[in-house]
Amino acid sequence: MADQSVNGDVVDKTESDVPLDRLGRPLGDLRISVTDRCNLRCRYCMPEAEYTWLPRADLLTFKEIDVLVDVFVSLGVDKIRLTGGEPLLRRDLPDLVEVLAQKSAVRDLAMTTNGVLLVKHAQALANAGLRRVTVSLDTLRPERFKTLAQRDHHQEVLDGIAEVSALGFVGTKIDTVVMRGTNDDELGNLIEFGRSVPAEVRFIEYMDVGGASGWNSDLVVSKAEMLRSLTDRYGAIEPLVRTAAPASRFRLPDGATFGIVSSTTEPFCSSCNRSRLTADGMWYRCLYALRGTNLREPLRSNASREELRSLVAGTWRARADQGAVIRSRKKDRGALASAEELKADPHLEMHTRGG
Ligand code: SAM
Ligand code: SF4
Repeated sequence: MADQSVNGDVVDKTESDVPLDRLGRPLGDLRISVTDRCNLRCRYCMPEAEYTWLPRADLLTFKEIDVLVDVFVSLGVDKIRLTGGEPLLRRDLPDLVEVLAQKSAVRDLAMTTNGVLLVKHAQALANAGLRRVTVSLDTLRPERFKTLAQRDHHQEVLDGIAEVSALGFVGTKIDTVVMRGTNDDELGNLIEFGRSVPAEVRFIEYMDVGGASGWNSDLVVSKAEMLRSLTDRYGAIEPLVRTAAPASRFRLPDGATFGIVSSTTEPFCSSCNRSRLTADGMWYRCLYALRGTNLREPLRSNASREELRSLVAGTWRARADQGAVIRSRKKDRGALASAEELKADPHLEMHTRGG
């Protein structure tokens, strides 16, 4: 395999360096949260009035993220997604994009954003080398957006989606968290909107993770239910061949495609190659994990690249997480964490882990 530069040195990546976890899953997909702050307060993610924020001094610098990315890439990561909180709140984000876009071993660099600041930043991101974004959009109705996101920025999000389309971004996706009684009557309309962008819509089952302290199973619209409702509107829906991506994809009779991420009712832990780095350098191997590994401390204590690589590789080899499967077997399933627990450890929050 190709040589990778880590901390300015050259590391030879051989097959034996690519660690498998205890369930035989490789390291493949790294989501990097660049901030825990957000300019929305989506009710399924940040329903509380107050939050405990990560100390600013703990946030990884772009140089530190660069070093860690090289470590991960040398161990098999080839897909990176920038996320948050809201990633576009991180100052000078295009500078980080530019560094990451130059890494030839990163075959897929993307960002998940709520879109509010996209009009302002899309051109600079494109200039820095970003070609793909996922924009979260739960509703086409401005009033509903205001209720759900607790902020009045619907038009900015729509304008942001139009902007990336005009700038020639490819593979744009729209992520929609579906909640019963909130936006489950908009599935078809969102697909039609996606078609006009163009962007593929992915419906996400409401998950009982982190900040979803108001979660209860009655609010979850299952993949099966979504398919039934879309079949009623469009006719027979064809499933497409499943890739490593978490979404199951489908095609409508008229050719439009869409995805469903069924983490709550049909978890896909057995093929999960995803891990998450928080803005302060905590590394989590599962969205449901209660504990992560602090990579900031060794990084700031001048650990060598080999030490960082063996820490990451060894920790990955010990991984046996299948949080969503374990949650799905739980009777009387409720929110994963209470508001008090989330305050005591903000790393449990979805907006800290990056979704
Ligand atoms: N702020 C950006 C955004 O909203 O796109 C990026 C961070 S956000 C935490 C990443 C994704 O997590 C979003 O698509 C969001 O809809 C999703 N998400 C947050 N809470 C969720 C929940 N309880 N269940 C399912 N998805 C959730
Ligand atoms: Fe909404 Fe994303 Fe902000 Fe969470 S982090 S409140 S999902 S915009």
